[in-house]
Amino acid sequence: MFLLNKLTSVPSYAVPIVAAVIVIILPQLGLSASNERQVILIGFLTLLVSGLNLSLGYAGELALGQPAIYATGAYVAAYMGAHGSTDIVLQIAAAIGAALIVGVLTGIPGLRLGSWSLAMTSFFLVLLIPDIVNIFPNATGGMAGAVGIGQATFFGALLTGYGFYLVCVLSVIAWLAFMRNVVTSRHGIALRVMRQSPVLASSLGISVFRTKLLAYALGAVPAGIAGALFANLDRYVSPETFSFALAISILAASILGGATSVYGAVVGAVIMQLGPSVSTSFQQDALIFYGILLIVGGVLLANGLSGLTTKAWKRLVQRPVPTTRQRLVATTDFHFSPLNGAKLSANGISKSFGGNAALEDVTITAEPGQVTALIGPNGSGKTTLLNMICGFYRTDAGSIDLDGVRLDQCKPHEIASLGLARTFQTPLIPEGITVFQVVLSGRYSPERISIASAALRLPKFWTVRSHDRQQVAEILEIVGLTALADVEAASLPLGTRRMLEIARALVSNPRVILLDESASGLDEGEVERLSVLIGRARDAGGTVILVEHNFRLVLSLADTIHVLAQGAIIASGTPADIEVNPRVLTEYLGVKDKDVGAAAVAIEADTKGSSL
Ligand code: ADP
Ligand code: MG
Repeated sequence: MFLLNKLTSVPSYAVPIVAAVIVIILPQLGLSASNERQVILIGFLTLLVSGLNLSLGYAGELALGQPAIYATGAYVAAYMGAHGSTDIVLQIAAAIGAALIVGVLTGIPGLRLGSWSLAMTSFFLVLLIPDIVNIFPNATGGMAGAVGIGQATFFGALLTGYGFYLVCVLSVIAWLAFMRNVVTSRHGIALRVMRQSPVLASSLGISVFRTKLLAYALGAVPAGIAGALFANLDRYVSPETFSFALAISILAASILGGATSVYGAVVGAVIMQLGPSVSTSFQQDALIFYGILLIVGGVLLANGLSGLTTKAWKRLVQRPVPTTRQRLVATTDFHFSPLNGAKLSANGISKSFGGNAALEDVTITAEPGQVTALIGPNGSGKTTLLNMICGFYRTDAGSIDLDGVRLDQCKPHEIASLGLARTFQTPLIPEGITVFQVVLSGRYSPERISIASAALRLPKFWTVRSHDRQQVAEILEIVGLTALADVEAASLPLGTRRMLEIARALVSNPRVILLDESASGLDEGEVERLSVLIGRARDAGGTVILVEHNFRLVLSLADTIHVLAQGAIIASGTPADIEVNPRVLTEYLGVKDKDVGAAAVAIEADTKGSSL
């Protein structure tokens, strides 16, 4: 146990650093030239797999085009090398530029069209390589291959033997460090959120299209680097290298090693590079072998070998999950920093799904510093109205306006960026991330940071990270979830997940907060806490829209109540008006006409309240 404690206190980057140092000095330890070449080839494959992991594992988009980007980098470097530009740094830079261009140009149509389009367009790109090479025989050498590539140089010095090995290994290390920095930053969390729920991602201010394109285009960068290095390995480039079999072996390596991981790429690349040399018949049956690996990897190893290792490690060092009793200990001695609430008005909104009118001419206004409640039976259109405010559905008629900005013409992520935060009737909590990270995802839009700042760990990154940590810790304390910060969030009970969603919404310092049946599934203590939270958010100046079935909670919190029935507002007013309104009592509460007076008295007298 002592040893285990010692081990868990080792920082997560220590193992990769030690491994990197060993690989760097391997030739000095007597690695043969042929094995040196194997290490370099593993490095190239690692780069290719790692790029695929960004789009497949993190952004959830299958892209088979890595060989085409690899080829682009190789031909760019080959051309430069044959025309006197032998500097490896320049070649890598040019290859990265070309890779990014190809990545963006193929990514835009592929991602715009959605579903399998990216896989198809990128696959065609690989099939096209020989044809494209043949169109420019002078530059590429056609099917015979590009020759006459000058010996690579590094700031004037010839790159041979160990020098070239070092450049290759350091390039791989630099890329892996870059990738690690991206995926461990909030951008990595944004990618995981987006992969599991585009709806949630856009409600957090993440542009799904842009983020996917970024992940896919960034994934082209290592392939470009690998290409530039490959051209200088044998100083010969031919189109046969960039085959469909390579695409499949990259995919197999990604799945084997674990697509949602940084170092899984290394594991997968080692297996796929060294596997063939074990069996001589491999070359002929390569595709069958890859196919089997893909099936075995896909079926048995949900997150690849790296996932398996992480799981085993977590089990080994697991700490007991705090009990419910501990969880509920939380302070009520807090206040929110002022929220810059905004007036939200929905004017004459109508919406039909097919022939079914979900909303008809609905007008509501929500003021800053007030709680505006929306009540009504199931199916009356409450969630639909929230979805329209958030931009998930287009209005058939009417307009939605936030302090003069027409929301009904904005995309969901733009609306979220304007300061709208929401919770969902069925909580949307992505799998595989912790309570802390779920709340952190709410900080994406209020204080932004570029991928470059995150990857290069620029000063801005550290500033924002410390703000993030402080704000997340504060809000966790307020909702009473501090003890659960490191627990996987998706497996928590419903009530806790609802509180977590509220924390995620509040951490963004929203101007408008929309709560969809947040009290359902909460126990009494949690409802009490929710009530305090809503009250404080209102007192801080936020605009609160509360969709709720708990009538007592609504009566105690709301400044204005709108009652929806079958898509139309049947009553609006203060809690005092609504609780005695005959139409509400008959249509919503189901009280018979003759009992209306008595029912109104009963509601008023009901100190414990009712949950409808
Ligand atoms: P509430 O939240 O008040 O329970 P909803 O807004 O979820 O009600 O639903 C209102 C009506 O709109 C229901 O009849 C529902 O079936 C319909 N509806 C909501 N969303 C969709 C959709 N995406 N497609 C088709 N019908 C929908
Ligand atoms: Mg609903």
